[in-house]
Amino acid sequence: MTDRNIIELRGVEKRYGTFVAAAGINLDLKEGEFFSLLGPSGCGKTTVLRMIAGFQEPTKGSVLIDGQDMEGVPANNRPTNMVFQSYAIFPHLNVGNNVAYGLRGKAPKAEIDQRVAEALEMVELGGLQDRGAGELSGGQRQRVALARALIMRPKVLLLDEPLSALDKKLREQMQFEMRNLQQSLGITFVMVTHDQYEAMTMSDRIGVMFNGRLKQVDTPTTLYARPCDQQVASFIGEMNILPAQLLDETGDTLSINAAAFGRMEIERNPNVATSDRNMNIGIRPEQLEIAAEKPEDYPSTVQGTVSNVAFYGENIHYHIQVAGTETPISVSVPNYFHTVDFNRGDAVWLGLQGASVIDLGQSTE
Ligand code: ATP
Repeated sequence: MTDRNIIELRGVEKRYGTFVAAAGINLDLKEGEFFSLLGPSGCGKTTVLRMIAGFQEPTKGSVLIDGQDMEGVPANNRPTNMVFQSYAIFPHLNVGNNVAYGLRGKAPKAEIDQRVAEALEMVELGGLQDRGAGELSGGQRQRVALARALIMRPKVLLLDEPLSALDKKLREQMQFEMRNLQQSLGITFVMVTHDQYEAMTMSDRIGVMFNGRLKQVDTPTTLYARPCDQQVASFIGEMNILPAQLLDETGDTLSINAAAFGRMEIERNPNVATSDRNMNIGIRPEQLEIAAEKPEDYPSTVQGTVSNVAFYGENIHYHIQVAGTETPISVSVPNYFHTVDFNRGDAVWLGLQGASVIDLGQSTE
């Protein structure tokens, strides 16, 4: 990845009649970056992608690619290429002709053949030119769609939910493959997804969208550790959200009184709007210790009762009902010893370090 901006969105807005699908979008994407637009269905991610591609013009603002304003530049004249959710592969054509499609008539046959062979090598389908597209598996079809886009040598590859049609195992495998491919080619990838894990495993940075607005743009680790508010916190991974009162603040340390856990000191989150007296805190389920006896080495503890146990194989999830909050607290424990230590109805203790508690800023309720 370089420091050079390859895509710049400046105050971009898209309206359909009076409906605002996207607004106030300002975004700089770096050359060679893997960027994901993440958000729930209908939040406007595809709309943003389509404005970069040139399938839609913004109602306001501008899209720059490689420093050039794209206003009025049709999709086929932009240095971008798009891979669609449905792949749009022609079933009656063989693999080679599918991949060559965009180059037909634009280059001599020998060059096309050479580039088809190269593109198929890139996606690990080397030598499959003559295979009928109808005979391919889901993962192979996805790779043909990628090869067909890559053969055009775009500066930016736009991907709209590229893996959503694949089953879980294959999807996870393709996530690694696509990330490796992107890194070895050094092309900028912009991917739309509603799958937080997909976005986190593949991207250098993620832009989280809600209701047409880009709420936070950060690395996966920062989004997870320092979400800008409750909505982003709950969308990226699981989060226990508890109300708290701000008692005092010294520098970057906040003294708070949190529901269930009581007084503790936590770190200020630079990504939230100023914390108010009534604030929220977030606790990731894996940051809590669960024990039969009161844990000694945790400054904050609370007693509770197990209300649910879910065995996931690699970890175990417990729901713990505690006094001071209506929703049970979710705890995730790695399955080190192949045992489920607690059952529904057991009395347990939870232990917490202030350092792992996330300041979610002012309460919006
Ligand atoms: P999904 O993951 O479901 O595709 P998304 O986040 O990509 O969702 P968009 O496809 O960008 O969302 O759509 C954003 C909003 O704009 C939706 O409410 C959608 O109904 C609306 N919308 C999209 N295209 C049009 C259109 N051509 N005319 C009117 N409304 C549209």
